[in-house]
Amino acid sequence: MVQQWCIRVGRRQGEQRRRALLEQGVLDLTLKPRKDGESVLFPVLAMLEGCTREEFEAHPVIEDLPRHELIGGIAIMQDRDPGEAERLLVSRPSIHTVLFPESDVEGDFRTRRFEVLAGQPTTRTRYIEHGHRFDIDLSVAYFSGRLSTERQRILSSMETGECVLDMFAGVGPYAITLAGKAGLVVASDLNPGAVQLLVRNLSLNRTRNVLAVLADASHLTRVFPRRFNRVIMNLPLGAVRFLPCAVNLCLPGGVIHCYALQEKEGEFLPEIEQYPVSDVCERYVRSYSPGRWHAVYDITRE
Ligand code: SAM
Repeated sequence: MVQQWCIRVGRRQGEQRRRALLEQGVLDLTLKPRKDGESVLFPVLAMLEGCTREEFEAHPVIEDLPRHELIGGIAIMQDRDPGEAERLLVSRPSIHTVLFPESDVEGDFRTRRFEVLAGQPTTRTRYIEHGHRFDIDLSVAYFSGRLSTERQRILSSMETGECVLDMFAGVGPYAITLAGKAGLVVASDLNPGAVQLLVRNLSLNRTRNVLAVLADASHLTRVFPRRFNRVIMNLPLGAVRFLPCAVNLCLPGGVIHCYALQEKEGEFLPEIEQYPVSDVCERYVRSYSPGRWHAVYDITRE
């Protein structure tokens, strides 16, 4: 407990007075206000009129850690700073490795190269999303937890028993999430390392209604008949060129979720509207870089 100057206010006026103290810049933000009977006690930085000295509990100190993205037990730092990486490593027991990306997301497999800055020399970890477990290896196959809300949005828009095609499945975050409601999910990817992890993740989550396929998405029309109620196209830099294939595989009235990285609203609408579609709804998903964002086009097949 810490002693500080204190303003005593009736509970009903508490919020109004707190805002006023905040605006005046006199509220001591390092300490927790507290209740005392019908009053609220606010710690203040100056000896204001009517002040008394009281004891307050300090807010926990928020550590000033270097900027990083956390994926399971791996922290990815934005700066190549081994000293800061060590500090990050010891800050949380759940972090086993700190990485620095040596490249952007690149190539057909959409992976990055990493340097290990601290901790165990690995790019493999386990990530948990809405109760599902995923073994991932960031240098072998693409993975991002940033689309978890988007996966839940699609899950909640689905009817039970749907037949779903995930054309660019990676290690299976969409496929395994949507399998919870689907009758069958066909999950395909070009990257053998991703498909291996996908199969491992199916077994980790005891998912029994996903068919894992190693294939180029453009070949899928030769293998499968048109039978899917929903098609997921999460290849933001190139999905649109696979639209002819997705449209052929989607049942009339079915929905195609086509992700795109774009710089202006409706950038891909003219291209999409060349296909037999009855409705297109464009949504903002997340920011990517200044002036560029991930969008999803929810396309209803005619
Ligand atoms: N859907 C996964 C996710 O959300 O984590 C992975 C998305 S990642 C952006 C795109 C994936 O598409 C990669 O795993 C890559 O290997 C795969 N890919 C790229 N070109 C492909 C193609 N022509 N056919 C099938 N898969 C492809």
